[in-house]
Amino acid sequence: MRSDEIRAHFIDYFKALGHRHVPSAPLVPADDPTLLFTNAGMNQFKDVFLGAGKREYSRAVNSQKCMRVSGKHNDLEDVGADTYHHTFFEMLGNWSFGDYYKREAIEWAWRLLTREWKIPPGRLRATVFEKDDESARIWGETIGTAAGGALRFGEKENFWEMAETGPCGPCSEIHIDMGERHCRRRGQPAHRCEVNGDCGRFIEIWNLVFIQYNRDEGGALRELPKRHVDTGMGFERVAAVLQGVDSNYATDLFVPIIAAVEEASGKRFDPGSPSAAAFRAISDHARALSFAIADGALPSNDGRGYVLRMILRRAVRYGRTLGIEQPFLHALVPVVADTMGGTYPELRLHREHVERVVLSEEERFNNTLTFGLELLGEVVRRTRERGEGAIRGEDVFKLYDTYGFPADLTALIAREEGLSVDGKAFESLMEGQKERARASWKAAPAKAVAAVYRDIAARLGGTPFSGYGAEAADTTIAAIIKDGAEVSALPEGEEGELVLETTPFYAESGGQVGDRGRVSGGGATAIVTEARSPLPGLVVHRAKTVAGTLRRGERIRAEVDAETRAETARCHTGTHLLQHALRLVLGEHVKQAGSLVEPGRLRFDFTHFTAMSPREIERVEEIVNARIRENAPVGTYEMPFEEARTRDIIAIFGEKYGDSVRVVDVGGYSRELCGGTHVRAAGEIGLFTILGESSVAAGVRRIEALCGNAAWRLARRRAVQVQEISRLFRTDPEDVVERVEALRVEAKRLRKSAAADPGGGGEIDAEALVARARDAGGARLVAAELGGARVDALRAAGDRVRRALGRGVVLLGSTGDGRANLVCMVTEDLVGRGLNAGAIVKELAKIIGGSGGGRPQMAQAGGRSPEKLGEALASAPGLIERSLKQVNG
Ligand SMILES: [Zn+2]
Ligand SMILES: [Zn+2]
Repeated sequence: MRSDEIRAHFIDYFKALGHRHVPSAPLVPADDPTLLFTNAGMNQFKDVFLGAGKREYSRAVNSQKCMRVSGKHNDLEDVGADTYHHTFFEMLGNWSFGDYYKREAIEWAWRLLTREWKIPPGRLRATVFEKDDESARIWGETIGTAAGGALRFGEKENFWEMAETGPCGPCSEIHIDMGERHCRRRGQPAHRCEVNGDCGRFIEIWNLVFIQYNRDEGGALRELPKRHVDTGMGFERVAAVLQGVDSNYATDLFVPIIAAVEEASGKRFDPGSPSAAAFRAISDHARALSFAIADGALPSNDGRGYVLRMILRRAVRYGRTLGIEQPFLHALVPVVADTMGGTYPELRLHREHVERVVLSEEERFNNTLTFGLELLGEVVRRTRERGEGAIRGEDVFKLYDTYGFPADLTALIAREEGLSVDGKAFESLMEGQKERARASWKAAPAKAVAAVYRDIAARLGGTPFSGYGAEAADTTIAAIIKDGAEVSALPEGEEGELVLETTPFYAESGGQVGDRGRVSGGGATAIVTEARSPLPGLVVHRAKTVAGTLRRGERIRAEVDAETRAETARCHTGTHLLQHALRLVLGEHVKQAGSLVEPGRLRFDFTHFTAMSPREIERVEEIVNARIRENAPVGTYEMPFEEARTRDIIAIFGEKYGDSVRVVDVGGYSRELCGGTHVRAAGEIGLFTILGESSVAAGVRRIEALCGNAAWRLARRRAVQVQEISRLFRTDPEDVVERVEALRVEAKRLRKSAAADPGGGGEIDAEALVARARDAGGARLVAAELGGARVDALRAAGDRVRRALGRGVVLLGSTGDGRANLVCMVTEDLVGRGLNAGAIVKELAKIIGGSGGGRPQMAQAGGRSPEKLGEALASAPGLIERSLKQVNG
């Protein structure tokens, strides 16, 4: 059986048993910050298990794209080393939401494996949770006691929990005996191959989870009102079993990719040779990168982007071990698209984009590798100099973390140089890094979804949004939350959160901010400042009672602030037009990478590789405004997701879509899957103005723009500013640019001529200074501070003062950049009487914390204590007096 036949057969088998086929959720979860990547089939049904969401079906089947890069069984470093670890993999699953339970799940699984797929029952082993007698009994009846029944294991192996709190239950696993030759510990005296052992002979292929409890904050288990089934089967493993091959990498899922690696390297793939790990890792990573980037992730320095970067670098480096020096991974992208694109059309749709991202990242890393080798040479030299035998962990880590230089390559090269590496120190630094990467995704961990929201959602089963066509609704207050707990009333002056039975308030999502407005009824009024959705399907309104007391159960009128809603709608539709225009001007590779829609203002991040030219920006603004003037109607309609994705409709990367999706269509030229609130016709946007374009990350650009009234106000403000500038420069607005340009040229000329007269010394009034000359032991002294003048300016000024003075001593000082400067000049007659400028500055330099010297006629000093300059100048008369007395007795 080909792998696509196996996948289709699994789905058809459960469809025939009344299951709905639900498409795979994206690999990049949009609405679950606790997840780096979608890592199990159940992710998209999490809200159902939490009691917050509902589906219109009670049985589901699917094949889910998954990625795991760290965890109990899935460390990136393991991938390639064996025949069954992966970063990217598919998980086949069937679900019951409060419908069938253990018996059906077990019997159907067994029948599929043994009857439909004809796996000999003797190769299979079932396990159950040690206290789950029910499952054990069903297995006994299903497979017969002759086969030994199900094996019992403890919590570690057979009890499944979603998180520290929440839904959980016993599970039952099916393992397959891969045969004795897969035992890695063959021949070891005391070894016995065991299910859940570590020798590699038994491999788990299917996990059936029976969700029947909810673990509360205190750790106690409560029976759930409804019991669910959640199963997951590793698709690659089952494909290997059914295709009768030893390794997942020998299935038709990988063979074409490995063949492409053979071609790129000119080397043959031999599963038994040491180079096999490179082939396996590269082909796995090519899949992971293709799927993740096609779903909207991009390599970067943190979070999931960091994970992608590490995966890509690992593949490139493995490529080098096969002798591939040039970028090659990008060439595997079309192979992955050919192999998997039938089931996952996004691979074909985004192929070019993925290739470009991979190629540019590969090129970057190739440079890094070359650079890293030099740095490593330096590290090796220093290690030897210190007389150490091992490269320090911090050096290995720095090479890895800062320059992306892989640790095992460092170890390899170190070995060649007769050195080892301090692996322990490196590991602990790495652990810290992983912690940080994980932490950056823990913005809202599952348990932070307060139990109060879960309870309310479970009770109400969601709060429908009624606000697409209407800005007000008559509804009922279903719950009031204050300080994390439910209360029955919210009196005047108090702030809390309201849950309404249905709500016209749009909760913040898809980048669009939540609505504001007010709620009134029963003699009370509250202002709603924010609407958000802490759980899918549940909207909470942050509100403050300004009159009366709001009570739970009260009928109220909920009204959205129409003006902010309208300004937000202008920006949301404006964002759609912007994306449309960007694709026309820049190309189809433009994809939304992030978006923020506020009243009057929008921010749109998109994939593009170079900065936009002013002409391109102007073109985009022009097209959007032309579309606005065309005033095409904005329509919305629902269609099955499966249909939408075969048509030319823009789906947002990483967005999670249900079976039925909402299409927002502007004039037939812009069609996007979107749940936001929009204007009725493009003309309502009024005006669209781009504020700027900038870079957000490698390959991602950002446009900020204004719509509607905000755009008009900006235009108006600019006009007023131009008027004002014209008035200041005494010119007509039409000529203001010329005028400013002329003034700029003039200013530049003046600056130049000022520079020719060094440091502004030309501005001092020498005569005035001379007029303030004082007597110092019979000599005339001019001592003055000249602000921030530079030393050359001090000298120039000193010359002019000396000329004006005729005979005497000139002492000028200045401060700047944390320094003090002194220049001293002594006229010839006084030099003849033994006065020495060099000696004077030498003394004074001590006061300003520095040193100085020069000729008897002219000397200068500099010091680090500008605050002491005044003191130095003040001490000059005494110093000169003493010098003259000393010399002349
Ligand atoms: Zn064994
Ligand atoms: Zn939208």
